[in-house]
Amino acid sequence: MMETNQLNFVSSLVRGYGFTEREENVILSNLSLSNKEIGKMIFRTEASIRKFLNKKGIKRSKFQLAAIRSQVAENQKGEHNPNWRNGSSKFPYRYKKSRAIKDKIKILAREKVRRAILRGALIPQPCEVCGKLENIEGHHWDYTKPLEVNWLCKEHHIKADQQRRAIECNFTVSRYDS
Ligand SMILES: [Zn+2]
Repeated sequence: MMETNQLNFVSSLVRGYGFTEREENVILSNLSLSNKEIGKMIFRTEASIRKFLNKKGIKRSKFQLAAIRSQVAENQKGEHNPNWRNGSSKFPYRYKKSRAIKDKIKILAREKVRRAILRGALIPQPCEVCGKLENIEGHHWDYTKPLEVNWLCKEHHIKADQQRRAIECNFTVSRYDS
């Protein structure tokens, strides 16, 4: 036979709603925290805390609201922000540029290399990886630095581009992994 308080506990779990006195005390003494944070303290959902406060007609003071806002802002910095991309904004050829702008930068960079080769400012070299002399292409690590190129054969250029794309998605992949 179940104890009464145990029964209450079970039924509150089943309903997912309705709080014990202790839980109510936790909620009411932590109104400077967000509903989500309070929920974590008592293993309840954000929505159930919100419902409880609405039902009781409890409104936070402007000081409590300000405290929550500053905490939320703090929690959303850097890697805690849902838009965090592994710090890739610090990487060359940043993710935040649109595809169209990236393509323009890429085309311009290639054009600059072509002209630099024509006027002798850039001289193609053997592939940096395998030493091949044919089909040498200028590989850009960063298209925003058009004249900084690595000379690679076609095969190794494809690999290098794949690596850069992988790094753009997740820069924990080492640049020099093969
Ligand atoms: Zn090569």
